[in-house]
Amino acid sequence: MYSANTVICGAGILGLTIARELVKSGHKDIIIFDKEAGPGFHASGRNSGVLHAGIYYDPGTLKAKMCLKGNQRMQKYCETNNLPLFKSGKVIVAREDNELATLDELEKRATANGGTVEMIDQTRLAQIEPNAKTVEKALYSPLTAVVDPKSILKKMHEELESSGKVRFFFNTKFLSARTNLVHTNQGDIGYGLFINAAGAFSDKVAQAFGIAKNYHLLPFKGIYRILKKPAADKIKGSIYPVPNIKNPFLGVHFTRSVHGDVYVGPTAIPAFGRENYGILKGIDSEFLSILLRDMHMFIGNEKFRGVALDEPRKYFFKHFFNDAKKLVKHIMPRDVMSCPKVGIRPQLINTKTNELVMDFVIEKHENTVHILNSISPAFTSSMYFAELVVNKFINETDG
Ligand SMILES: Cc1cc2nc3c(=O)[nH]c(=O)nc-3n(C[C@H](O)[C@H](O)[C@H](O)COP(=O)(O)OP(=O)(O)OC[C@H]3O[C@@H](n4cnc5c(N)ncnc54)[C@H](O)[C@@H]3O)c2cc1C
Repeated sequence: MYSANTVICGAGILGLTIARELVKSGHKDIIIFDKEAGPGFHASGRNSGVLHAGIYYDPGTLKAKMCLKGNQRMQKYCETNNLPLFKSGKVIVAREDNELATLDELEKRATANGGTVEMIDQTRLAQIEPNAKTVEKALYSPLTAVVDPKSILKKMHEELESSGKVRFFFNTKFLSARTNLVHTNQGDIGYGLFINAAGAFSDKVAQAFGIAKNYHLLPFKGIYRILKKPAADKIKGSIYPVPNIKNPFLGVHFTRSVHGDVYVGPTAIPAFGRENYGILKGIDSEFLSILLRDMHMFIGNEKFRGVALDEPRKYFFKHFFNDAKKLVKHIMPRDVMSCPKVGIRPQLINTKTNELVMDFVIEKHENTVHILNSISPAFTSSMYFAELVVNKFINETDG
């Protein structure tokens, strides 16, 4: 049997950044295990790579507190380690008059969250993103940047391995828990402290410890498409729509990646498996219970109903394209190609209130800590998120 002072389940960005913070604060004996063959096989390696800049989030929430600080730390990490970083900036554009009030609200939130944004007119928008379309005005965020998530995960994995303080066990799946012991498909691992950073399965892992009984993660599928050249040259940085700020998704947008490709997406289509990346791929025995939960949410929750009615049509090119073309001038259906990039966003539902949980959730139970709703912008926030988890919940040196 293996054992370590600290055992982390999940080698996504949060598992890795929490391990880095633990090492920084003197922890010497850490195991990270993951059911996959390497780090970042799920959300952390399948996202847009956008470092958000604290715009959307209700002041006072963990997202608002962590996003901008996380953005700054991640940008510094990329610069220090010569990893790709594109200081792209981003514009948020209004497709209809009735979105202008939300644009004003976003400006207020961004300012309250310590961010830097500028409300710009059409002339200034044309200088920043000559092909973006908007009604009257747009919000410009100069601090938004784009990174290559996989190169960050690779670098952190290498750093942790070479520290001599962290052991990685891959192809090792969490099955169940007993006091100070987790049972995996590769045998038992003993722990002094257990950290659950299992992303899409973090509710299941937490429930194995007898907590998070009122929580359930529901999967939403993020499909991307890609712009062909020369249409791709029309996009300089990132162009986002005004989102419905009552739900956690930001809407199909255009993002120029660090490698120069321009992605369109992602969608947020209710999926039928936590790893349902293809049409049928990743659908397992949980299918029925996810379907029932979706139906329950559809009946009882207006926000979910809105998403469930609006998003699945984006499986069809015509609808996906119609959404995208509202943001950009002179774009034709032939400019947009399908691409294999797809991610799943696990969204936490409070099963007692039937609400989509909008903020990050961190729970401590005895000698275990659980990260339960690591939705966007958790990649952006991760380096500060990890510091807060370690200081507040583990070393208990902060508040
Ligand atoms: C399509 C999409 C676009 C996004 N865009 C952005 C963006 O632009 N900017 C941003 O900041 N955020 C974005 N996000 C969100 C961001 O990717 C996530 O918030 C972040 O990656 C979560 O990291 P994590 O470490 O918690 O989870 P994950 O990366 O999912 O890691 C969890 C790990 O746990 C492992 N695991 C699960 N169950 C078990 C088990 N039973 N036993 C062992 N191991 C297990 C998994 O294999 C996985 O490696 C996006 C997400 C998606 C899906």
